[in-house]
Amino acid sequence: MRPPLALAKYSIGVGDRFGRQARAQLEACRLALAAGVEVIPVWNKSYREHSIIGSEPIATRRAADEAVSALGWKLPYHVDADHIQLGTVERFLDACDFFTIDVAETIGRPAPAERVSAFVARHPELTGAIAIPGIDQPFETTAETVAAIARKYLLAVEEAGRIYRRILQAKGAGNFIAEVSMDETDCPQTPVELLVILAALADEGIPIQTIAPKFSGRFNKGVDYVGDVAAFECEFAADVAVVRHAVRAYRLPEDLKLSVHSGSDKFSLYAPIGRALRRFDAGVHLKTAGTTWLEELIGLAEAGSDGLALAKQIYAEAYAEREALSRPYAAVIDIDPALLPDPADVRCWSAAEFAATLRHDPTSPHFNPHFRQLLHIGYKVAARMGARYLDMLAAGEAVIARNVTTNLFERHIRPLFLGEQH
Ligand SMILES: [Zn+2]
Repeated sequence: MRPPLALAKYSIGVGDRFGRQARAQLEACRLALAAGVEVIPVWNKSYREHSIIGSEPIATRRAADEAVSALGWKLPYHVDADHIQLGTVERFLDACDFFTIDVAETIGRPAPAERVSAFVARHPELTGAIAIPGIDQPFETTAETVAAIARKYLLAVEEAGRIYRRILQAKGAGNFIAEVSMDETDCPQTPVELLVILAALADEGIPIQTIAPKFSGRFNKGVDYVGDVAAFECEFAADVAVVRHAVRAYRLPEDLKLSVHSGSDKFSLYAPIGRALRRFDAGVHLKTAGTTWLEELIGLAEAGSDGLALAKQIYAEAYAEREALSRPYAAVIDIDPALLPDPADVRCWSAAEFAATLRHDPTSPHFNPHFRQLLHIGYKVAARMGARYLDMLAAGEAVIARNVTTNLFERHIRPLFLGEQH
């Protein structure tokens, strides 16, 4: 098998809902490079985002290509078909070279008993005490626990295989990066489950390069991690060790690494993740998405009178539609309607007040995570404004770009990849 297109040790998934900030995002990677670390940009956009915005994957590709040529970026970059399934992959095939294969829907659908027992028989190494280098205590499993995990995940792995083979047929071996994502489900996967899943993915013949498990705790959109940070650190380090072990045990690609979804704004996790990466000399893919759109809004507010008025109008409309907007995101947001400011009050805010309420600076007394989360999911409101919104972005380009770049570099790349406090 031809080795897959390589994925660098450190990569960052940057979403760009309206496709206008690719250059400002790439600038953050350029700053990282100047500071001594290669962080490879991956422009990700899901089927759902394209549908809501009314855009096509080729537009993401074009924006990425233009940014790369404008800034003279010489390192690799990728365009990610984010969270695709068999029914949605087709329109991404030409434009993308990174595919996030989402099989969360199939998790838990019980695999037939004979396939489960065949898996357990094929993998005697998964039963008993499993010593994983870098983890103090060996995992203790029985044939029953392995069977229970296989029953829960085997059909999802087979589905991933079907999607992978469709992409393979269209793109050819070695021409794309495959990620498997299991994060959009109810229960987090334990490190033992991750090991079993990786063994099954290897059996299925998928040369995966990133895997996105669901971690413990809440990864809400646009705000910090909610959960036990110390427990997360143990779990993440164990997952990194499992990935490294699985690469050797199951001959998976050498560059296989974890992918952290909803990874923007998880400020309390960057130090623990960074420690685990350094300890194992491992890489990571940090996927961020909606953060850039929020920086656009902050920039709009700061850009001047018309921009501020538009930002306030977007908030007022999102506020009026908050229930409908929240519904598809229920699992990944926590908005207390009582803590949302009244749009009538917001109408009187200064640009500085709007920006400080929205900007994710936990030390600022103005910062309001409810306001931020509502606007995070409120991009639909801007999308239906169409040209009016896009023209305003063009008018405020310089100040918006500064916000987009600073957010990615100072608040994400610096603490995670450079190991610096922000
Ligand atoms: Zn995800």
